[in-house]
Amino acid sequence: MNQIDSSTEHGIPELTDIRDLGLQELEAVVAEAGERSFRAKQLAGWLYARGADSFDAMLDLPKPFREHLKHHFRIGSAATAHVARSSDGTRKLLIRLADGEAIESVVIPSREMEMTPAGEKLNQRITLCMSSQAGCAMACEFCATARMGLHRNLGVGEIVSQVFLARHELDADEHLTNYVFMGMGEPLANYQRLVKALIIMTSEWGMGISPRRITVSTVGIVPMMERLLAEVPVRIAVSLHATTNELRNRLAPINKRYPLEALLDACARLPLKQRERITFEYVMLRGVNDSPDDARRLVKLLAPIRGKVNLIFFNVFEGSGFAGSPRAAVEDFQAILRKGNLTATIRESRGLDIAAACGQLYAEQAAADREPHPAQ
Ligand code: SAH
Repeated sequence: MNQIDSSTEHGIPELTDIRDLGLQELEAVVAEAGERSFRAKQLAGWLYARGADSFDAMLDLPKPFREHLKHHFRIGSAATAHVARSSDGTRKLLIRLADGEAIESVVIPSREMEMTPAGEKLNQRITLCMSSQAGCAMACEFCATARMGLHRNLGVGEIVSQVFLARHELDADEHLTNYVFMGMGEPLANYQRLVKALIIMTSEWGMGISPRRITVSTVGIVPMMERLLAEVPVRIAVSLHATTNELRNRLAPINKRYPLEALLDACARLPLKQRERITFEYVMLRGVNDSPDDARRLVKLLAPIRGKVNLIFFNVFEGSGFAGSPRAAVEDFQAILRKGNLTATIRESRGLDIAAACGQLYAEQAAADREPHPAQ
């Protein structure tokens, strides 16, 4: 292959993103360079614990090794192109990938009351909503990302780099406390790379994040759910949205492949930790899935499962064809679930003024809109 074939359109040689690599592969890199094996953990520490973005910063690595790394790899292959800040503190990052694709990640600060033996404590929580794919193939009818179709899967480095890019946007007294794969894409449709990214995020040699602070949200790719929990003990959330196959086939067409019975059966069998529950997400669509009958059916369906329900206000976008249920209907629905002994919370929409709320991520459009005005 000649020089031009291996270059990007900008003439920069296409190097592998070293953040695509887990510890074993870093060990192989170290061995190939003729370095001692302990260098692999040292390198992982720079890449994942400290989030270094240049090899030159890795001063305790021998210079020839750093030169070797520079020659073969780059660090990260994504950059923040634009940040929109909501009046509620939510920040939406438009992230440009090396090949020009774009994804979005959202930083969501919130406060929650915690009951401790010493009384009530106000906790500051900062959640990072992460993407797993550019676009999505799942075609859920009420979701803006679905309108893009699937552009491509994200690489491991592109998944984990979202954390480092998000940290750059935090104020000095802020730090990320929770991570949710509820951005663009269906995480379990990019399974291998997701798991590798989760291992980097949760390993002690990697980012050292507790897996209990990571939630993977799925539309219900049944065979991958059990496998995921066997590999990394993260939390799982299931986007349910309907209580009959007829309606779910329409709202989330993957239901034709994995119908409600199969999905709920798999949920009932998932190995959960003590006191852990599966979150079922339920977007409240006016006149579609928000009747008292729907609520009663939901109580019945979830009775055999250790689950809780998170009711989500529908976030409208142009051409969506749906309207959200009014607050009173959402509260009535919640009351029926609670009467049926089902824990049910209402998720308030965040970042609405910057179109950063659930289901509003549409980077294709966002990218196109900003083309004539590159980030300052
Ligand atoms: N593909 C995964 C994760 C991405 S979607 C999944 O389906 O779970 C994250 C959550 O946002 C899902 O529960 C999804 O149903 C919800 N969502 C999608 N579009 C929405 C919209 N317009 N308003 C509110 N929530 C939406």
